[in-house]
Amino acid sequence: MEELTGAQLIAEVLKAQNVEYMFGIVGVPIIEVAMAAQAAGIKYVGMRNEQAACYAASAIGYLTGRPAVCLVVSGPGLIHALGGMANANMNCWPVVVIGGSSDQNQETTGAFQEFPQVEACRLYSKFSARPGSLVMIPAVVEKAVRSSIYGRPGACYIDIPGDMVNARVDRKTVRFPSCCPPPPASLASNHELSKAVTVLKQAQRPLLIIGKGAAYGRAENEIKELVELSGLPFVPTPMGKGVLPDDHPNCVAAARSRALLQADVVVLLGARLNWILHFGFPPRFSPDVKLIQVDICAEELSNNVRATAALLGDVRAVVGQLVEILRSNTWTYPADTEWWTNLKEKMASNAQISKALSLQNTLPMNYYTAFHHIAELLPKDCIIVSEGANTMDIGRTMLLNYFPRRRLDAGTFGTMGVGPGFAIAAAVLEQAQHTGRRVVCVEGDSAFGFSGMEVETMCRYKLPVIIIVINNNGIYSGVNTETWREMEKMGDMTTIAPPVTLLPEARYEQVMCAFGGHGYLVRTVEELCTALQQSLSETATPSLINVLIDPTSDRKQQEFPWLTRSNL
Ligand code: ADP
Ligand code: MG
Repeated sequence: MEELTGAQLIAEVLKAQNVEYMFGIVGVPIIEVAMAAQAAGIKYVGMRNEQAACYAASAIGYLTGRPAVCLVVSGPGLIHALGGMANANMNCWPVVVIGGSSDQNQETTGAFQEFPQVEACRLYSKFSARPGSLVMIPAVVEKAVRSSIYGRPGACYIDIPGDMVNARVDRKTVRFPSCCPPPPASLASNHELSKAVTVLKQAQRPLLIIGKGAAYGRAENEIKELVELSGLPFVPTPMGKGVLPDDHPNCVAAARSRALLQADVVVLLGARLNWILHFGFPPRFSPDVKLIQVDICAEELSNNVRATAALLGDVRAVVGQLVEILRSNTWTYPADTEWWTNLKEKMASNAQISKALSLQNTLPMNYYTAFHHIAELLPKDCIIVSEGANTMDIGRTMLLNYFPRRRLDAGTFGTMGVGPGFAIAAAVLEQAQHTGRRVVCVEGDSAFGFSGMEVETMCRYKLPVIIIVINNNGIYSGVNTETWREMEKMGDMTTIAPPVTLLPEARYEQVMCAFGGHGYLVRTVEELCTALQQSLSETATPSLINVLIDPTSDRKQQEFPWLTRSNL
């Protein structure tokens, strides 16, 4: 008779479901789960906070289309992971969280770290369950993996009673499910497709919007064909950047506001009309805009704006359908329209404003100068992780993406603290695949603080992540050292220091040095360029470049206040 422990069962089934990565923090009762996972050939990355572990696991799901596991202990461990689960679920990214929990016969007795974990996870997940017995583990694990990637992707939770981990069962009594195949691709109906094509052909000012659903759905080749065949202008959402290269001739991102506002037909490819796209409402969109919407989730169709054509299905397959129809119609949107002239003119004037800002040679630097020089040195194929308020917003326009799924940021939930976890996940993937591609994590100083201790994780696993902290001494903005010293003299800082401020000129690079990584403090353009070049030449050690910028530096004048929503 061959006996298996609960831990071995979990590991064996995960591996059989093509789960290759596990991120977590071990402790009683799940240490053996991590050990069994390693024994089964799953890569285990031990992190410093469960939230960051869950961010990392979810980034693997987004980047590979197969979920990774986030492994946590009971009670507080699981509660820390909820932030990561919520973030994954909001972004429609697959992840499987496995939480140790109190023993089966101790539930409701006030056991160590007892908490209603299955219920707690329900709000943050698509599926949340506790196997009723050892022999049920394989079915529950398979269902969690499958549910995370079928339909709209999202988070799933498996609760493992502590006493199941080392309990044994005869292999012969266990039913092992076969490996769950990738989700079957669903196609849009012919009726909706022909409506879409009719509307598109009548459009005067058409616009494609490429979302991160298109990136996740690996629709890049089909979308490239669509754009090149149709000649349509496109705007990517923040993580839709790179599905087609940012320097593609049809990319009108530099005229984003005008493109959204004046478009009469919008083709929405795997993106939601939420705050990121200003809900599809005036004053950011025309009140009469016609919407051709492609989404895998039926409930998403017509959210906020009624879809004129609702193309329910997998974005890659549906764009393939559109391409086929347009090709047989030999239809192209002309390149010499007023719409193109209008967009090109706006792009040119916006580019000029950014250029003028980036060429300012002030000390301390402004955001635009710092990003201009960073952009010049970054390899085209690098993975850019970005978070922070201004750092992320300005960085998005200045740091170009040339390949799909190479940008990870605060996303739909606007979550700060995701950067280090995302960067670790991306670096672990690149390391496993020996691509030599670099991961560059561009963080605001405030954003870096949320998960800063993960630099120890980067050093421990020799992940050559380059963290660039754009340091303006605060959240949104800070004050300079002299002002800070004056405030200190005035008395109790808890009543004086503006809530947005952080310690001026904080030495974040020394956090990296503490664990054996390289740290650079830079103030000038020359120092920034030298530090970045050196960091890029280091292939086995992480670096942190602390860029002290002007604490009063801001975004260039915006046409609309942030999060504008009309009172329709
Ligand atoms: P963005 O942040 O780029 O605006 P969102 O996360 O708001 O993107 O939207 C992504 C959308 O893509 C979601 O509505 C999701 O249901 C959808 N989606 C995810 N995978 C696919 C797929 N394979 N095919 C079509 N739509 C998808
Ligand atoms: Mg800041």
